Amino acid sequence: MNVIFLGPPGAGKGSVAAVIKERFSLLHFSTGDILRAEIKAATPLGLAAKSFIDSGKLVPDDVIIGMVEAKLAENKGGILFDGFPRTVAQAEALAKIAKIDAVIELDVPEDVIVARICSRRICSECGAVYNTAYYDKANCEKCGGKLYIRDDDNETTVRERYSVYVKNTAPLSDYYKAKGLLKSICGTDSIEGVADLVTAVLNEAKA
Ligand code: AMP
Repeated sequence: MNVIFLGPPGAGKGSVAAVIKERFSLLHFSTGDILRAEIKAATPLGLAAKSFIDSGKLVPDDVIIGMVEAKLAENKGGILFDGFPRTVAQAEALAKIAKIDAVIELDVPEDVIVARICSRRICSECGAVYNTAYYDKANCEKCGGKLYIRDDDNETTVRERYSVYVKNTAPLSDYYKAKGLLKSICGTDSIEGVADLVTAVLNEAKA
């Protein structure tokens, strides 16, 4: 089964994906995570992508599509796409390489998103994600790694990322609705609560 998570930055796609990938044995495929790993490794792709990411803009479609095709070339199992596709051109490229079974859109209002992202902390070792409202320590409770703030997790960049989402990515709701694949769910509940709603949708899609 191949699934897409749609939703603005901070909607909880990554956190919910971490639960859902285990429940349905899916590969969690986050283009944002892949790009951050490329930046960390200072590869040519990472260097090309960094200024777009830091300013909240989208990395150009041809770069993203080439990266996705290369990363998925060897993959055989089901995939949970998180943060891809983000434009209609990316969705059309994806349609050529994978059959999509369900598209789940997480609805979260802009102000909730800004508050969530500005209090987000990430483990530099294992990638665990925290919110300072619930966990406000310097090190990860799972592996002890140092927590950091993403360069693009500040209010100015978040508002830019949100407007980029509305302009470039929100049209994908209609694109997938027309294909009968879209299911919108409220993303303001807890991670477990949202994951349970997603589980119900995916069980139905599988049946
Ligand atoms: P994310 O971790 O999904 O919030 O992505 C962080 C940043 O990476 C975005 O703001 C974009 O600059 C870039 N990015 C991630 N995925 C894509 C994509 N599918 N298309 C274009 N840019 C992307």
